[in-house]
Amino acid sequence: MKNVLFISKPPDKNNIKMSVHKLSQEEELETTFSWLTEELKTKKNRTSKTIIYCQSINACGELYSMMDSVLDGDAVSNIAMFHSKTPEALKTQVLDNFVPMDGPVRVVVATTALGMGVNIPNVERVCHFGIPDAVEEYVQEIGRARRDGRKSHGILYFKSYHLAHCDDSMKALIRNPETKCRREMVAMHFKTKHAKVSPLHDCCDVCTEKCDCSLSSCKEGPHMAQPAITEGNAPMRTVEDDERQLLREILQELKDSTNASGSIFGSNNLLAQIDDNLIKELVNSCEYIFTTSYLMENFAIFNIDTAQQILTVFADVFGDIEEVEFVTAMELSKFEEDDPLYLNHCYSEDVEEILSEDELSYDFDY
Ligand SMILES: [Zn+2]
Ligand SMILES: [Zn+2]
Repeated sequence: MKNVLFISKPPDKNNIKMSVHKLSQEEELETTFSWLTEELKTKKNRTSKTIIYCQSINACGELYSMMDSVLDGDAVSNIAMFHSKTPEALKTQVLDNFVPMDGPVRVVVATTALGMGVNIPNVERVCHFGIPDAVEEYVQEIGRARRDGRKSHGILYFKSYHLAHCDDSMKALIRNPETKCRREMVAMHFKTKHAKVSPLHDCCDVCTEKCDCSLSSCKEGPHMAQPAITEGNAPMRTVEDDERQLLREILQELKDSTNASGSIFGSNNLLAQIDDNLIKELVNSCEYIFTTSYLMENFAIFNIDTAQQILTVFADVFGDIEEVEFVTAMELSKFEEDDPLYLNHCYSEDVEEILSEDELSYDFDY
């Protein structure tokens, strides 16, 4: 009897960038993940939610100990470990503190034991240290990076010895001798189509190399989700609690007025929508928000008017933005609002699809 591959959402999640990075044999864990420990030190319980999958419990332990010692008491309560040998009571405790949107645990170092059957919202990055055994496993795991269609990132780090343990399809995806688009390779593996991602640097590491857009964020490092941390000279402000509160209140008012006035996009008024998630993310990242282009690159804001309205709120609250600038047509065009595939992939995710008949029976638990 043939098994059928049922998936509830397409494996081609075009809001997740796929990156693969080969590390030199000598590279220390501390170096590979310095961007993350830095972020934990600075942002503590506002660090972007991150899962790091390791291929063994030992590797989990090593990575966790490294972070524990680098953080040296600072932000250690924001990291946790989760694997098959973790006592059940501790597993529950980790999930209770990681699953809620604003839970204090921000980074979980895990084996495949994490995730089966658990819905973890708002994960911005899924890292792999080492290579999953099969493409199915890889796709399922990076699928945990999902933020209601907002941009997120699957970042795989490996050393040559990791290649010994994975199957041929996974090896081909990692080695990629013809330097093909990785999203295209995954789609070929599942015999499905892959949606075009624009700009190219949001697709995969291979496409990023080919991207010739002029955005300063184009070729930035694997940790994309927090450009302000990586660009040493990016603007940043200090925010007091009462300013954060004021910002939240005014954004809430803006949300109420925008949603009441309807939208020129008709049934697709999601394009102009400000929701509670967005407000939460804007408030969490308010240290870094100074331009409409930053807003449109980093948040689910698809409409320049909305970006300008939001930036005006920032200008009012913080008084450190001289003028609310207009993004150029070039920058806008990358959002491809007319591209039907783009919209389909963003907004019809609950459509159940049976993609192909295959020997595989795999439950894509997105
Ligand atoms: Zn690509
Ligand atoms: Zn680019």
